[in-house]
Amino acid sequence: MFSKRNEHIQDYIHQLFVKEDETLAFVRSHAKELGIPDIHVPTNVGKLLYLIAKTQKCHKILEVGTLIGYSTIWLARALEPQGKLISLEIDPKRAQIAQEHLKRAGLNHCVEIRQGNALELLPEMIQRHEGPFDLIFIDADKTNNQAYLIRALQLSRPGSLILVDNLMPKGDHIGTPSNHEGVSIYQFNDYLARHPKLETTLIPTVVHQGRVDCLGLARVKDSI
Ligand code: SAH
Ligand code: MG
Repeated sequence: MFSKRNEHIQDYIHQLFVKEDETLAFVRSHAKELGIPDIHVPTNVGKLLYLIAKTQKCHKILEVGTLIGYSTIWLARALEPQGKLISLEIDPKRAQIAQEHLKRAGLNHCVEIRQGNALELLPEMIQRHEGPFDLIFIDADKTNNQAYLIRALQLSRPGSLILVDNLMPKGDHIGTPSNHEGVSIYQFNDYLARHPKLETTLIPTVVHQGRVDCLGLARVKDSI
């Protein structure tokens, strides 16, 4: 359906640079067995998240949207010693499965999965002064991206990185959304591009079947 060439580029990257270990492969096949939708980051994006997090020397990471813990494992593996990751997931079953996967990955001690609606959990975290986080990965329901970003900024410091997944909607005509979700993603991109506190770009990434998506990479400015 999408470019075969893109698909081959992704295979090439996977084979040469991003060999998945047994744990990550198990997590993906286990989720499939349980009928959970295949909407985690692809392996090449997992490795990208890991490398960005490692470069940022993260002591505290926040993730919005856990699913079954696939991206969580990549990010948690990049934590500095004694670092901690908190991941928010609305679906109790997914949160429980993710917890099991984190245990299997030997990351239970540094990852806390919080089950609940991020729109409620994030304000609680702000109230309890749980920030600032060195890196925040937003990857939940796309129509709430702006609400998550506003709260993420309240849990950040100058120099924090805010990553947002899936910022290139499906559809052949870039800038012309084909559904409600697409409309909100393009609106969010405009908001992100103009945000006075952020320096931002979109990183094109090859995802399933050669489709090109984008990962937003924003850095909180040192001063405004
Ligand atoms: N980051 C994961 C994929 C997340 S998929 C990975 O790449 O491996 C998006 C997840 O966000 C879904 O599991 C969905 O249940 C969750 N979600 C949707 N709305 C939410 C909300 N309001 N609060 C918390 N989680 C939410
Ligand atoms: Mg995603």
